[in-house]
Amino acid sequence: PGNRRPFHPRPGSCGYSDCAAASGNLRGVLLLRNADVFSPRALGLQSLLIGGGTVLWMGSGRDLPALPAALAAGVTEIDLAGLRLIPGLIDGHVHVTGGGGEAGFKTRVPAVALTRFTLAGVTTVVGLLGTDDVTRGPRDLLAQIYALREEGLNAFGYAGGYHVPLATLTGSVRGDLVLLEPLLGIGELAISDHRSSQPTFDEILRLAADAHVSGLMTGKAGVLHLHLGDGSRGLDFVRRALSESEIPARVFNPTHVNRSKALFDEAVALAGNGCYIDLTAFPVEDGEDAWSAAEGLQRYLASGAPADRVTISSDAGGCLPCFDAEGRVSSMNVGHSGALLETLRALADGGMPLETALPAFTANPARLLRLARKGRVEAGADADLVALDATGGAHTVIIRGEIHVREGRAVRRGTFENR
Ligand code: ZN
Repeated sequence: PGNRRPFHPRPGSCGYSDCAAASGNLRGVLLLRNADVFSPRALGLQSLLIGGGTVLWMGSGRDLPALPAALAAGVTEIDLAGLRLIPGLIDGHVHVTGGGGEAGFKTRVPAVALTRFTLAGVTTVVGLLGTDDVTRGPRDLLAQIYALREEGLNAFGYAGGYHVPLATLTGSVRGDLVLLEPLLGIGELAISDHRSSQPTFDEILRLAADAHVSGLMTGKAGVLHLHLGDGSRGLDFVRRALSESEIPARVFNPTHVNRSKALFDEAVALAGNGCYIDLTAFPVEDGEDAWSAAEGLQRYLASGAPADRVTISSDAGGCLPCFDAEGRVSSMNVGHSGALLETLRALADGGMPLETALPAFTANPARLLRLARKGRVEAGADADLVALDATGGAHTVIIRGEIHVREGRAVRRGTFENR
């Protein structure tokens, strides 16, 4: 109800919010009323005025500023009737092209369509390459990032993939990071895994330096996003890098650290030294030597480690294979962004307040990725917003001021999704 906005099939293809303003988001102003805002902090009932892709104003409905007549006529009003409004989720580890390919060509996962993200409350993704950085490459990755941007999602990526030498477009990873705007760091570089290229300590140090220097040159995140496997070396290399090099700890960003309990303990210790660690919301069976992302976050926060140094991502589009002792795939699953809201729901069921759980999905990845206007609900931030229904599902999803999901249904779809 109240959604009278025209359907814009092609918003700005650039992910930057200032471009979004120039590309159609100024056509209307959106007024959200009665939103129970978690910024992530619990702020209670608020009204929000949204225009130009950003939150222009937030406050009590009584204090709503008067709008110039020309704008007031075009205001679309949505009464959220007390639904919880949170920052759009940032999924920092997504195989946007589809990952997989670890058990033959038929196991290459197809590209992930727009509504697989939007219906899951995800408004920003970081795309990357994994095991298969041969049939997939940076061209494919960038093209998919641009496609998702054209469809209205905030999309970024990492340079390289699992293996050294890294797959690059310009011939060097620093070239890729400095010259290709969507790429924020290097990843997912595999270590302690039989699928890795067995990178040496010096190679890892060199790549961390490339990421860091590129970050300095561009103001981008400049992180080395490390895929951790089941290998017993765990996070040895990262500990060594922190003690033997000048590279800041924040550059080293290990993911999948909840895949074993011992690895998780190593990662929590590193977070105390300044690394951001990433938990993966993969399915965990009872009795498995792993923590679910929900259990991992509970344990992380209970440990007293810094609350702002932990993130949760989904591994969407990636294959979640189980290997036998010979290294053959014995069973397979595909990750999906819906695992993030499922994790948020599990945390709520476990009694964690929403404002405690949210930063790992919003403000923390925004800070790690240096996306300064994302991850928070406040005046001046990008209007990437999710209203949760009573069961914790995505009721309304707004990306840079554009409505993608209303009452749990996609009102915008990817180019090849059935209408
Ligand atoms: Zn991985």
